[in-house]
Amino acid sequence: MLQVKNISFNYTKTSVLSTLSFNAKRGEHVSIIGESGSGKSTLLKLIRGEYDLNEGQIFWKDKEILGPKFNLVIGYDFMKYVAQEFELDPFISVKENIGQFLSNFYPSEKNERVAELLKVVELQALSKTKVKLLSGGQKQRVALARALAKEPEILLLDEPFSHIDNFKKQSLRRSVFRYLKEKNITCIVATHDKEDVLGYADRMIVLNNTTIAANNSPEELYSNPKTSLVASFFGEFNSINNEIVYANQLKVVTQSHLEATIIQSYFKGSYYLIEANLNGNVVVFENENNIGKNTTIFLNYYPFKS
Ligand code: ADP
Ligand code: MG
Repeated sequence: MLQVKNISFNYTKTSVLSTLSFNAKRGEHVSIIGESGSGKSTLLKLIRGEYDLNEGQIFWKDKEILGPKFNLVIGYDFMKYVAQEFELDPFISVKENIGQFLSNFYPSEKNERVAELLKVVELQALSKTKVKLLSGGQKQRVALARALAKEPEILLLDEPFSHIDNFKKQSLRRSVFRYLKEKNITCIVATHDKEDVLGYADRMIVLNNTTIAANNSPEELYSNPKTSLVASFFGEFNSINNEIVYANQLKVVTQSHLEATIIQSYFKGSYYLIEANLNGNVVVFENENNIGKNTTIFLNYYPFKS
């Protein structure tokens, strides 16, 4: 398993991560979330051994991960990393890129393996296309498949679906994350997209102010967010009487002591997101139907207060 023990790191004088610790078990899917600049990418790079730690240690099983000062070549065979800015060979095909690091001694096994990976990232139709002709999202999928080619024990993914359009994203996510679970590959995913986390991650680590602000299951953090930073990750929310109330927990009722006036409605598909003025504060809630501007309504939230 992965053990991150009291690590501290800074590029310049300002600390990026300080005395941060967590573990990840074999086959576990851990999401690293946090605002832009909170150190998600840096954390993945440290786990990979790209930089030397200022303090602390990182282990995979009983092997210590060492930085460039102690390790001539960055990276380990049992670990693969897909960067936010992935590097592929633009002049060879999708198939050749995916198989780039696979041995040529057993060509039929290599072909089979590449075919399996093309399926996981849903790129069968483009297998012979040169990578330079692909879109950003297609390149990202090739990079993912190439990282999986040698079946690493642990996979580090930095914003893995950020370049992929919404038409493809959902099914691709299911396919990739299902594959990782089937193969019992530990994966650490840095993301700011809740769709990468919910339904897939066993655990969510929230980075804030150079350290871990929360480390728990998505279910637990959703139902008990404690801070607005955690709540904001799950979606729109309100702070009412110092309680965090998600937009879908605030409902229109026939009578209550929360009287509000509608400001604006936004069509969201299966519901309307509605902004209202509640005693001078803007609140947001979800409602099945549109409600006209300036309408007076009463609100209540779960667990309903009488
Ligand atoms: P995230 O991935 O969460 O957006 P990063 O790990 O990329 O955050 O960055 C964390 C902090 O470290 C930011 O303040 C960023 O500006 C800084 N940083 C990142 N890479 C470098 C670098 N190579 N040199 C100096 N500062 C860096
Ligand atoms: Mg980043």
